[in-house]
Amino acid sequence: MQKFPFLLLSFLLVSCTLGAEPLEFSTPAPQSAASPTPVPVTAAPTTARGSNSTPTTISSASDPFSANVLQLLSPGCSTLTPQQTEGPYYTAGSPERNVLYEDGMTGEKLIVAGYVLDLNGCQPIPGAWLDFWQADASGVYDNSGYTLRGHQLTDSQGRYFLETVIPGEYPGRTEHIHVKVRPPNGETITSQLYFPNVSANNSDDIFDPALIVTLESREGLYVAYYNFVLAR
Ligand code: FE
Repeated sequence: MQKFPFLLLSFLLVSCTLGAEPLEFSTPAPQSAASPTPVPVTAAPTTARGSNSTPTTISSASDPFSANVLQLLSPGCSTLTPQQTEGPYYTAGSPERNVLYEDGMTGEKLIVAGYVLDLNGCQPIPGAWLDFWQADASGVYDNSGYTLRGHQLTDSQGRYFLETVIPGEYPGRTEHIHVKVRPPNGETITSQLYFPNVSANNSDDIFDPALIVTLESREGLYVAYYNFVLAR
């Protein structure tokens, strides 16, 4: 009569011991945070202009040459981009394009590239609108069409890229490229870009040295670097 409780107690002890396996929790592998690719900071040397430029065709901003130029950009912003007069030759409604160069165009081939930045924190501004217009190599504007006129938006990193020719001088004006820049939902600024080592800079009343591009010769092309810095 006393064996039954002993056997029951033994059975319960064995059952509890066998069932006491630890629960396993699967620990998720830590996710590696996607770190942004650093943009090399390269000071582009200013190069004196010469006449040995070899024209090269660049089909789009996605080809290797363009990609190399974009990799060389440095998102630095020291001062606000000065505003300048629009002048008499602006035409609204330019086509969206970053290649203003056309086959057969005379003049020295030029790439202009840089960032559009917010002075507050020097942050790149993706989706900023830029509208460029300029004279041709002879100093003549197309005032009936859109030759050498075009607008574009900065890419996801706040960069722009323009393929064009170096504009010619016209009476009273040194070489310059007109531009309007507007951040998303922001105010439009109007300005102009100039080139280094141009003697006519000294006799142009509108010229502002703060708007001189950094110019270098790269693979036979002139490449101009300029960052537009806006206050938002
Ligand atoms: Fe002009």
